[in-house]
Amino acid sequence: MIEVIAFDADDTLWENESLYHWAKDELARILSPYQDPGWVNRKLDETEVSNLQVYGYGIKSFTLSMIETAAEAVDSQIETYTIAAILEIAKKMLSAEVELLDHTEQTLLQLSSGYDLILVTKGDLFEQQRKIARSGIDHCFKLIEVVAEKTPARYLELLKKHHIEVDRFLMVGNSLRSDILPIVAIGGRAVYIPNEHTWFHEVPEQEEIEGAQYDELAHLGQLPEYMAALERSQD
Ligand SMILES: [Mg+2]
Repeated sequence: MIEVIAFDADDTLWENESLYHWAKDELARILSPYQDPGWVNRKLDETEVSNLQVYGYGIKSFTLSMIETAAEAVDSQIETYTIAAILEIAKKMLSAEVELLDHTEQTLLQLSSGYDLILVTKGDLFEQQRKIARSGIDHCFKLIEVVAEKTPARYLELLKKHHIEVDRFLMVGNSLRSDILPIVAIGGRAVYIPNEHTWFHEVPEQEEIEGAQYDELAHLGQLPEYMAALERSQD
């Protein structure tokens, strides 16, 4: 019997990746006198992924990668106005309104009467806390955890810390790599809700998914009915 439902936040409860898409388009526009948009997008993706180990996740890390990409695009002859324009993109991203996805509020309210809901989000602590505070849904959660990485070990640690049995726990998220596969690896139940804007880095190779046991829903609004069906099947 499930007692605790954990939710990912970015692109599961609210929009996030669409903001990065906007920023990438803006950067391509700023750098269009020097490089074509395809080059800029490719270079930025590469730079971003190779910098993850050094900077971690989040907008400020992404901004450093935008500056590095711009420096390469203009062959290191970068002007201060280009850097200022990139910082402007970053500030717009950091101060953007939190846009809840369809069904988020209603689903959380509905489920919070029967389950302990927790939020498990990965990324920069300052950025994630700001979004949580502005989301207007933080009161639905019994517990909120911001983690640097979502690995099986990190999830096990979290369950242990809060005295949650893995067979009483269900994780919901849009990232197979961060929300689903690590939970499957520790013997937990996971519900995958794809989002059209999921970051390419969160999409695992086909062989990593093969044989993994998890359920998939089209949208968050289907979760209460899924939980009800699960309860019936376990009676
Ligand atoms: Mg997510």
